[in-house]
Amino acid sequence: MPLAGREVQLTEDQVALIDTVRDFARAELLPLDRKCDKDESSMVEALPQVSRMGLMNLTIPEELGGLGCEYRTYVAILHELAYASPSMAVTISVHSMVGAILAKLAEEPFRSEWLSAWGTPESFAAFALSEANAGSDAAAVAATAVKADGGYRITGEKMWITNGMKARWFLTLARLDGAPQGEDLCAFLVDGNENSAAIQRTHVHGKMGIRGSETAVIAYDDAFAPESHMIGKPGEGLKVFLSTLNEGRIGIGTQASGIAEACLDEMAAYAKQRVQFGRPIAKFQAVANMIAESALMLEAAKALIWCAAEKLDAGRPDRVASSMAKLYATEAANRIAYHAVQVHGGSGYVNEYRVEQLYRDARVTTIYEGTSEVQRILIARELAQHL
Ligand SMILES: Cc1cc2nc3c(=O)[nH]c(=O)nc-3n(C[C@H](O)[C@H](O)[C@H](O)COP(=O)(O)OP(=O)(O)OC[C@H]3O[C@@H](n4cnc5c(N)ncnc54)[C@H](O)[C@@H]3O)c2cc1C
Repeated sequence: MPLAGREVQLTEDQVALIDTVRDFARAELLPLDRKCDKDESSMVEALPQVSRMGLMNLTIPEELGGLGCEYRTYVAILHELAYASPSMAVTISVHSMVGAILAKLAEEPFRSEWLSAWGTPESFAAFALSEANAGSDAAAVAATAVKADGGYRITGEKMWITNGMKARWFLTLARLDGAPQGEDLCAFLVDGNENSAAIQRTHVHGKMGIRGSETAVIAYDDAFAPESHMIGKPGEGLKVFLSTLNEGRIGIGTQASGIAEACLDEMAAYAKQRVQFGRPIAKFQAVANMIAESALMLEAAKALIWCAAEKLDAGRPDRVASSMAKLYATEAANRIAYHAVQVHGGSGYVNEYRVEQLYRDARVTTIYEGTSEVQRILIARELAQHL
């Protein structure tokens, strides 16, 4: 089942691209994702294939060599990636968010230089905001940048950095030493290649889910960023990071909708073939109800995502719409994954069946890119302004 609304709003070319991604993701990425879940290896090994299909370059403007996709096409593609590999979906979502920030805010000629190579694994990017004591409270970061000859020297430790083990680019939030408090947060594009000795990457092992996605602790010890690599103005660092809030939240909502759809398909197929009391369990009303409720929640999630993406495409980004899409889709995916395991009975509790993994993969979606609690606060705060 496609992402709600797409049939009437997308061109034939866009639908063909989405269909191609679906076929590729289910044939190539799904088996690899299952393997990565088992042995904690990285889906990044599939990046060359993903890059050849243009999927690292989806939202980069065409004049810079990207596909220049509208947001609706982007989420429809991300949904297909997430259906087959929730780990690859978050990998691409994070890389795309950094690209979107540079497309919006980096200055020429650097913007063209960086983004013209964005579609290649050599330009793989990470979004380095969180720290041990700065999670929901992002403004609490402690990493520091000290002015040096021709640029800045950055020291500090970032936690939970998706794509962190292999990324070349780290969009990094740090506090400018000596600047007045409140005007000191700055965003830097740090080159991991140039700073290989100054950046230590430590793989976070033992994750509950999305085990094929790389998560790393990144320790900067005097990493150098030239002046031209400061994105935005001094003091605007958090604003730079938050400038892709809508895209990021819709992206994680879409990761959740892909997981949810995979769960729905798995539970419906299992319910049709599993026989108890002489009939397929799908014939029992209690089981049919779980399937129906899951299908309803999935459609509602897709509609909220589509609505938020439509607003972005129309140049009217809407924070409430993006937060609602993220909040609802991620909570729904967890509920749907719960139903999927329940419908499988004992079989759903072992990793031979995919729903066991999907249940674990869904869990993180209500945590990163702003927890569900934070989304509720943001929605209520925005609405309060209009009461
Ligand atoms: C697998 C994974 C990948 C990640 N990838 C990245 C990445 O690429 N880049 C990056 O920068 N970060 C990344 N993160 C970090 C993620 O964004 C944070 O984990 C998230 O923002 C929550 O922060 P925290 O873990 O510090 O939890 P905390 O902020 O400590 O929250 C703990 C609990 O308290 C609640 N809480 C906190 N403040 C409030 C409040 N004001 N009101 C009500 N409840 C509140 C939260 O909702 C939550 O339930 C990743 C995390 C994970 C697990």
